[in-house]
Amino acid sequence: MPLRLYDTYSRAVRNFTPRRGRDVSIYICGPTVVAPPHVGQLRCQVSFDVLARWLKYRGCTVTLCRNVTDMEDMILRRALMENVPWWLIAETNYRSFFAAYELLGCLPPTVEPRATGHITEMIELIEELLRRRHAYVVDGDVYFSVDSFPEYGRLSRRRAEHMRASAEPGRGKRHPSDFALWKRAKPGEPYWRTPWGDGRPGWHVQCSVMARKYLGREFDIHAGGAPLIFPHHENEIAQSKAAGDGFARYWLHGGTVTRGGEKIHKSVDSPFSLSRILTEVRPIELRYYLAMSHYRSDLEFSWTALRDAAAAFRRIEGFVLRASRRLPHAAPATVVPEPFAAAMNNDLNVPRALTVVWAAVNEGNRALAEGDEAVLADACSRLRAMLGVLGLDPLGEPWAARRARDSRLEQTALALADLVVNLAESARARGDDALADRLLTQVREAMDGVRPVRAEAERPVSLLAG
Ligand SMILES: [Zn+2]
Repeated sequence: MPLRLYDTYSRAVRNFTPRRGRDVSIYICGPTVVAPPHVGQLRCQVSFDVLARWLKYRGCTVTLCRNVTDMEDMILRRALMENVPWWLIAETNYRSFFAAYELLGCLPPTVEPRATGHITEMIELIEELLRRRHAYVVDGDVYFSVDSFPEYGRLSRRRAEHMRASAEPGRGKRHPSDFALWKRAKPGEPYWRTPWGDGRPGWHVQCSVMARKYLGREFDIHAGGAPLIFPHHENEIAQSKAAGDGFARYWLHGGTVTRGGEKIHKSVDSPFSLSRILTEVRPIELRYYLAMSHYRSDLEFSWTALRDAAAAFRRIEGFVLRASRRLPHAAPATVVPEPFAAAMNNDLNVPRALTVVWAAVNEGNRALAEGDEAVLADACSRLRAMLGVLGLDPLGEPWAARRARDSRLEQTALALADLVVNLAESARARGDDALADRLLTQVREAMDGVRPVRAEAERPVSLLAG
């Protein structure tokens, strides 16, 4: 059964055929590391992590390049505002992103290049575009000439007047939609030496260069969030194709996460930051919430929907854990059910695939109640195979190792709490009510942040209740 994917460039669902047999090359536009990650950026990464996992399930080898934009106007502005070096902003936020991807169980990319490590290649590409007369220099700035590339606007299907309206300002541009490949250094800004003067790269040229370096002049899939279609991806295509590259063969775009219909923006203290969200739900529950809608649809973020999704996932997880206690040696099946595969092959229709997941949960729960171990084993192994593809198998990595660690910590905390309660009881027996009360208050406060493994909820902190 072929994998079919919606390709933004052709505005159609197409059969996906890799360039070379089963080797699939994917470029994902990574973050501009100006603020910690918010839920919108993370949803896109989770969606494309599911894509990579599905390709691997289908027997493909995936080479995934996800860049880091560590040099960009926004980073320089924030550094200036906070009076810190630009690289400190980039480095700090890069680490937040790295930790967030890992926390959400995203497989690591094959390569994660940083823009500032590829300036030489950027200068070379710009020289190539100047030589081919697709670019021109104006007083130290270098612009791409959109008139020199007739296909410009093809990806976004924008009309010329719309493109003009959102064009970036610039001195001496020949056409309003011409965009900067290189920006002349302003006083105090970081710069690199070039034949046309000191400066730094524009944003778009960074991705063209890193995609070429790691995936070659033509590769299979370019992915990113829908807001990047214009101008970022339009400009990437123009630069790369004008330089003679075939560039991406399929363009995949993930929907945006909105709040009140508005796109969630990058900000330092976003109420939708990962750290804020993880005070409400566990990372695996957030991953379920982000993965459960179709990757191309917009997601209107809601705390209620997030909590509902977390509760739903705990029902799936609870079943897997109960079943695995009954059948401790059961492994996931190697093949997913056919309807699940059909849904995934249909442009990664995860909502439909989840109906197959829930059918297995219901069947398994019935078998558990009836003590039918054969049906239970079958349902659970099928279920875990499907959850594995979605990166949501509670007994798979990274979740199993974390569960073991959390449960060890929790048991230690509970044992210590027991000890303090025993001390309080002895104090009360001696008539020292003041000490007993103080110990109990302190232990309740200390245990307040200790969250039992909620999916199991086997050992609530009952001795502290009341
Ligand atoms: Zn990009």
